[in-house]
Amino acid sequence: MRIAILGGTFDPIHNGHLQAAQAVSEVFELDELHFTPAFVPPHKSSSGITSAFHRFAMVALAIAQFPVFRLSSIEADTLKSRYSVETLESMHRTYPGSSFLFIAGTDMFHDITGWKDYRRLLELTSFAVVNRGGFAMREDIAPVEVVSESASISIVDQRQVYYLPFINEEVSATEIREEAKNKEGLEAWVPPQVAAYIYKHELYQ
Ligand code: ATP
Repeated sequence: MRIAILGGTFDPIHNGHLQAAQAVSEVFELDELHFTPAFVPPHKSSSGITSAFHRFAMVALAIAQFPVFRLSSIEADTLKSRYSVETLESMHRTYPGSSFLFIAGTDMFHDITGWKDYRRLLELTSFAVVNRGGFAMREDIAPVEVVSESASISIVDQRQVYYLPFINEEVSATEIREEAKNKEGLEAWVPPQVAAYIYKHELYQ
């Protein structure tokens, strides 16, 4: 199987995540794409982060109609912060013989050398790095292959870094949390069912 992993805080999930996930699933002809919300991301403190249960509910609502997308509790089940390298080791045990693609924005990938055991992580998975405005692509870590929107990549090289420069959904969860205070207009950034969930549960007030 070919499985991609999109980790993050998803506080909340938004159209930037969904556009990146759809592009990666099409270009790489994925069997499954796992959204793996962190319980607490290693680079953030738990204070101020919405309950993992609400964050999960929003991901579930957003991905329900996409057959390839899955919601994975592999990170959140640990009830603590978990490193990507641990998640990938565990994925290899659960899905032996599969190949993996780890999705990250250029903002996250820029800091890759600060991730725990990043060299080991690069042995465990290829990367699909998606453009995030304002963050240049880092090319000094591993061979980079630039991928076009119409590409179709059926053999994914382990240890390869693929770069998808055509992703251009300029939205961040930080902006959405600010915007939510106005109690309207979120439908421009998140699927309507996620906007409705945020209003109903008065998140980010
Ligand atoms: P915050 O604003 O709270 O830091 P975020 O919008 O960056 O949140 P995360 O859940 O932290 O969202 O992101 C998870 C992954 O998705 C990261 O690899 C990030 O780079 C990527 N990502 C987030 N937003 C976008 C976007 N608009 N376009 C492409 N990739 C994105």
